[in-house]
This record gives sequence, C-alpha cells and structure tokens, in this order.
Amino acid sequence: MTKRIAIIGAGPSGLAQLRAFQSAQAKGADIPDIVCFEKQSDWGGLWNYTWRTGLDENGEPVHGSMYRYLWSNGPKECLEFADYSFEEHFGKAIASYPPREVLWDYIKGRVEKAGVRDYIRFNTPVRDVVFNDETATFSITVHDHNTDEVYTEEFDYLICASGHFSTPRVPEFEGFQKFGGRILHAHDFRDALEFKDKTVLLIGSSYSAEDVGSQCYKYGAKKLISCYRTNPMGFKWPDNWEEKPNLLRVDTDTAYFADGSSNKIDAIILCTGYLHHFPFLPEALRLKTDNRLWPLDLYKGVVWEDNPQMFYLGMQDQWYTFNMFDAQAWYVRDIIMGRIPLPSKEDMTANSMEWRERELRQETAEEMFTFQGDYILELIEATDYPTFDIEGVRQTFLEWKHHKKENIMTFRDHSYRSLMTGTMSPPHHTPWIDALDDSLEAYLSDTSEVKKAG
Ligand code: FAD
Ligand code: NAP
Repeated sequence: MTKRIAIIGAGPSGLAQLRAFQSAQAKGADIPDIVCFEKQSDWGGLWNYTWRTGLDENGEPVHGSMYRYLWSNGPKECLEFADYSFEEHFGKAIASYPPREVLWDYIKGRVEKAGVRDYIRFNTPVRDVVFNDETATFSITVHDHNTDEVYTEEFDYLICASGHFSTPRVPEFEGFQKFGGRILHAHDFRDALEFKDKTVLLIGSSYSAEDVGSQCYKYGAKKLISCYRTNPMGFKWPDNWEEKPNLLRVDTDTAYFADGSSNKIDAIILCTGYLHHFPFLPEALRLKTDNRLWPLDLYKGVVWEDNPQMFYLGMQDQWYTFNMFDAQAWYVRDIIMGRIPLPSKEDMTANSMEWRERELRQETAEEMFTFQGDYILELIEATDYPTFDIEGVRQTFLEWKHHKKENIMTFRDHSYRSLMTGTMSPPHHTPWIDALDDSLEAYLSDTSEVKKAG
C-alpha cells in the first residue's frame, strides 16, 4: 500500500518538503501520499505577514512574528534556492536585501511552478499526535476551521515543519507590573511608526534587538536604548542609540541598568527570542532544545532518533535558511523513499554527538556559519539537490558581517554576486534608510519614482 506522509506547516521548510517530493516525481519516481496541514489560511509561514497579534480569526495563537517594513537581514544570495534562482523568478537580477513581500513572492513562485498547493489543507492546525506501536503509524488529529470539524487520520511518516520563531520567550523584570508604558515582545511588534518620537528600551542583543531597534530608528523614534545579558551587539550606533548592560528593574517610567545608570523610557520591547514549542506532540516525540546550531536527538539534524518515522525540519538556529531547509527536505525525502539507509540508533546518536562536540567548539560567527555550511554540504552530497557554492556563501556571509560592522544603517545598501547564476546583483535604487515604502512594486521598480507616485 502507498505510504502516507503528514507534514505540519507550509512555511519555507514544509514547502521545501513538498518541492522535494514533486521534484522526484517529475523525474519519474513514485511518491507517497502527502498531506500538509497548515494552521494559517495561506502558505509562506512567517513570510505570510499578518497585522494580527494574540489570537487569529479562529482563536489560534498568531504564528506571525514579522512586521511591516521588514527587510531581509542577510544577503539574499545566502538563502537562494539552488533549483530556482531570483533571476528566474523575477525575470531580472534584483538587489541583495529584499523586503518581506518580495521574499514571500519568491518563496511562492517556486511552489506555484511545482504545482503543490493541492497537497495543503489550510486553516487546519494539528491538535494531537499519537504513535501506535502495534501498527507503527501516527494518528494525527486536526481541526479543520473551514468546516469546524475535528478529525483523525493515519500516517506512516510525520514531518514537523512548524517553525521555532513564533512562541515568544517572555521574561519578567522587577517593576513590570507597575510600568506605565507599553511592554511587548518582538513577536507582537508590527509597526515602528507606533514608536515615533518615543524613547524605546530593547531587551536582548541578537537579531530582533538589532532590527526592531533599527526600524524604530528609521521611522523616527526619539531615543533607543538596548541592553544585553551576555554580550553587547557592539555596532557603531547612531547618536540617539545607547547600548547598556542588562536591565535590573523599572518603575513607572524609568529603567535601571546593571552599570548603575537609569533612563526615562516610554516603551519596552522584549527581543528575548523564542521557544521551541510543540503542544500538539506527545512527550516521546517532542524536541526539546534552545535556539542553537546542533539540537540533540536529531540524526543529521532531521531524523528523530527515538523513532525514525518522525522528522523535524528547520529546527536549528539559522545562518542559512531556505537552501538549508531544501537540503534537509531532500535528505528526508530520500530516507522515506528508501534511497538513504539509516544506521542503528546508537550510531545515529554517536554521529549527532560528534556534531554537538564540534558545535561546542565554535566561538566566532565565521566558525558558526562555516559549521552550518559544512552540515548542508554533507546533506546535499547525499541527494540530487543541485550542488552549490557553499564556500561562496561563506565568503558572502563574511562580507555581510564586515558591512554590518562598518555601518549598521547602510549594510543593506551593498550588493553581492549570486552563487547560483553568477550574476552580480544591482544596487537598490534607494538607500535602505530612505526607502520608507517597502512594497514589492516599489522595490522592483527601476527607480524611486514608483515610491513617489505611490
Ligand atoms: P515558519 O516560517 O515559522 O513556518 C511554520 C509554519 O507552520 C507556519 O505557516 C505555521 O502556521 C505552521 N504551523 C505551526 N504550528 C502548526 C500546527 N500546529 N498545525 C499546522 N500548521 C502549523 N530568515 C531569513 O532567511 N531572512 C530573514 O530576513 C529572516 N527574517 C526573520 C525575521 C523574523 C522576525 C523572524 C522571527 C525570523 C526571520 N527569519 C529570516 C527566519 C525564519 O525562521 C525563516 O526564514 C523561515 O520562515 C523558517 O521557515 P519554517 O517553515 O521552518 O518556519
Ligand atoms: P535569538 O537570536 O534567539 O536571541 C535572543 C536574545 O534574547 C539573546 O540576545 C539573549 O541573550 C536574549 N535573552 C533571552 N532571555 C533573556 C533574558 N531573560 N534577559 C535578557 N536577555 C535575554 O532571537 P531573535 O533575536 O529574536 O532572533 C530570532 C530569529 O529571527 C533569527 O533567526 C533572526 O535572524 C530572525 N530575525 C530576522 C530579522 C530581519 O531583519 N529579517 C529581524 C528579527 C529577527 P543571551 O545572549 O544572553 O542569551
């Protein structure tokens, strides 16, 4: 009988899985029956922007953590699909740091071409998963909000691609109960204009703190203060942005820091990261990890070692994104299709531990993206995913780091060469700091005229 596969999530990872199977089918292989359950009404995961925060129209926790005016925070050349270039999608070379809508369009373009939308059941969150030892199948219970029906189906394989930047990690600091301004997590940040002329405190020192703060700067915040628990971000900030050691407490309108300083503030944005959160999974199948390059219990970063009928995609901290999800999806496909044999559980765990030990030795950003590049290379060498120039991506990441260090407000004005087509990307028509219209139409126009006309 044809095997059945369930995929949870139609974000970039789940869509990579659909494309991987479709690609095998296009080359003449028989593929299993596939159902992809997606909680939202459209595909693209985090890239499918929503204005909503809190609960969605069905009472489900809002998945989206992206905000208006979000632009790619790394060069698009580092995430390009090896089987579908930006040039193929847009019919021309485009600049290197596209806004969200442009990347969403690109993600959609590949799966529209592949014709895989019919595999997806939208508005259908997975509620519960049970693995039956006797039948070696998964009973997966979902809620179809289109018909308000809860039903259960049986599957042979389960691929969890539900993302891990959606459930916010929300620490509390002394005085939060009494603070008179707004406190929110970056997950609920939607529009920097809300903070125009305000003094904003950002807690955290990673990508969200950097980018949410930069958005607020760009859209007219009066002053920014970011504070760190472990290490400062250390960029050369604009004059109205200060970086301080961690927050100790707040009172109604003032924040007090570990260096003894204090500042009046209007709002607090917790840029404190996200939890890997799988409320629909039973304990025996549930990945438990913090945001890191090598979560344990996953052979090759994808196979659930305790039950190799279960897989996870995209659960690592992400230097690489779309093409890493592809590498993983092609690998998982080939395990399921019997093209890649799995070793014993002991050998899988031993292999994972070797990667973990290497992960623990990584200190610099360069070492970390080299680590992730080596991992991806190992996966793609085992499948027919098109080989691409990982060393070139590494060099591009290096340039990106350098450009950020030079000037955190202008790094997005640089361009890089596509590692897939070899074409040099053109500069964007407007420096990022002046580009207030982030629409696809404005971005893809050849001049800034569309922006003015709009
Ligand atoms: P997601 O995109 O999170 O998709 C998961 C999907 O699973 C969602 O559609 C969700 O609705 C669905 N789902 C979840 N639970 C269920 C359930 N129970 N049942 C059914 N469906 C479910 N990466 C970059 O490369 N460049 C960037 O500039 C960039 N910016 C980012 C900005 C922010 C604010 C954040 C938070 C992340 C950013 N990322 C960026 C990283 C991002 O994680 C990846 O680009 C990518 O979206 C991950 O894809 P995914 O499919 O693994 O997860
Ligand atoms: P993250 O990288 O996991 O960083 C979490 C930060 O929160 C760390 O600085 C951590 O500090 C801090 N933190 C956690 N708990 C804390 C506490 N109790 N007190 C003080 N600080 C605490 O999460 P993220 O920055 O949200 O990034 C998540 C993903 O979103 C990344 O992949 C990123 O690329 C993406 N993103 C992209 C964009 C974009 O521009 N396109 C924008 C935002 C986010 P320690 O170092 O001390 O642990």
